[in-house]
Amino acid sequence: PACTQEEVNKVMDAAKVAQKAWARTPLWKRAELLHKAAAILKEHKTPIAECLVKEIAKPAKDAVSEVVRSGDLVSYTAEEGVRILGEGKLLVSDSFPGNERNKYCLSSKVPLGVVLAIPPFNYPVNLAVSKIGPALIAGNSLVLKPPTQGAVAALHMVHCFHLAGFPKGLISCVTGKGSEIGDFLTMHPGVNCISFTGGDTGIAISKKAGMVPLQMELGGKDACIVLEDADLDLVAANIVKGGFSYSGQRCTAVKVVLIMEAVADTVVEKVNAKLAKLKVGPPEDDSDITPVVTESSANFIEGLVMDAKEKGATFCQEYRREGNLIWPLLLDHVRPDMRIAWEEPFGPVLPVIRINSVEEGIHHCNASNFGLQGCVFTRDINKAIMISDAMESGTVQINSAPARGPDHFPFQGLKDSGIGSQGITNSINMMTKVKSTVINLPSPSYTMG
Ligand code: NAP
Repeated sequence: PACTQEEVNKVMDAAKVAQKAWARTPLWKRAELLHKAAAILKEHKTPIAECLVKEIAKPAKDAVSEVVRSGDLVSYTAEEGVRILGEGKLLVSDSFPGNERNKYCLSSKVPLGVVLAIPPFNYPVNLAVSKIGPALIAGNSLVLKPPTQGAVAALHMVHCFHLAGFPKGLISCVTGKGSEIGDFLTMHPGVNCISFTGGDTGIAISKKAGMVPLQMELGGKDACIVLEDADLDLVAANIVKGGFSYSGQRCTAVKVVLIMEAVADTVVEKVNAKLAKLKVGPPEDDSDITPVVTESSANFIEGLVMDAKEKGATFCQEYRREGNLIWPLLLDHVRPDMRIAWEEPFGPVLPVIRINSVEEGIHHCNASNFGLQGCVFTRDINKAIMISDAMESGTVQINSAPARGPDHFPFQGLKDSGIGSQGITNSINMMTKVKSTVINLPSPSYTMG
């Protein structure tokens, strides 16, 4: 259903009331309920994964992994929350010039209130729980706006939290198209924090949102820089896995290969041999390449491919499309004047740009308005560190394709790729505020004095 504004208001009111009681619920009890929800989620992995297969054409095996990984994420969040939220800080005043030790400052973390979570279609369960878990353990209530495609899986996932016994109103799901209900939600006065993962929509939201903390995980154009001394079999395997898993519909997919000319032919040949073996077809058959999420996505991808064709890119495979199903395609000899050199296709099409120096590769990477992840392949760790330091990306993987995970690793984008940092600990911290209580003593007090 498309929720109305009145229904959203009701949800927000309920979330506000439920949060007050939840903030008084002992931390261990909040953790206990999260562990319970994690177990229920894992128990229901098969039907939820079936929704992911049908709604977003996620290959069957990957769909099950997404649900299991989400259960693990919730459990880990419960444990991490108990540790980090159970601790505060004591500061004494005489460390700052001009003060005696007559003030003790006790600081701890308090919840923000109502957190609005908006995940994208490609991980409707995992990228929802990565917001739900931290929000709830920290004492917030949560309103989820699931992606339209993936909403059924998300509803079932939220139901697992309800089955676990979370209080009424604490976690709600508001369905409806982002283009219709999005502004009303993100500008709602009842919202105290927004955690969003998606594309450029996030930039628009951050301009419209009020004075609330924002966690924005947006798009990327993850560069893969390959040096001459790299293990070329490892490179080829990672380009195929990184660029084509879930048909390239991953924020951290390899989205441009920047390869030294001397090894380019060999790597392109190895990648093409692997691409020829990928299974293309429906997600139920566990195909490697499945239809992309919408017809408009497929049309957008086709536009990038046709632009590259007109401008003279080398097609390593014939371009083939049936409906939303696009066969894997490697485009060699891509140049910076082609759109595919800069734009995120979010599909199984990967450009290769041949470079003559490392500096050229770093320059291309840093000229992008994105800065999510990147990777570098070399056997020389000293070079790898220098290149990693030079790349303006939130994370650089050395000798592996970019990846969001394990889920407790910090995960963040620079420039148009995001605001703030994710990862379990960072998300918990982001969804809290520091609160101080200062004890003023009538006279200075010194320990051991
Ligand atoms: P999207 O179009 O930006 O949508 C993301 C979410 O925002 C969906 O739930 C969508 O709902 C909602 N939405 C749309 N318009 C809205 C509005 N005006 N106000 C509030 N919410 C609104 O992105 P997508 O196509 O689902 O996902 C692909 C993009 O996500 C890619 O750019 C990818 O790189 C990025 N991504 C980033 C990360 C990361 O962690 N950095 C991870 C995964 C994906 P509807 O479905 O109803 O439109």
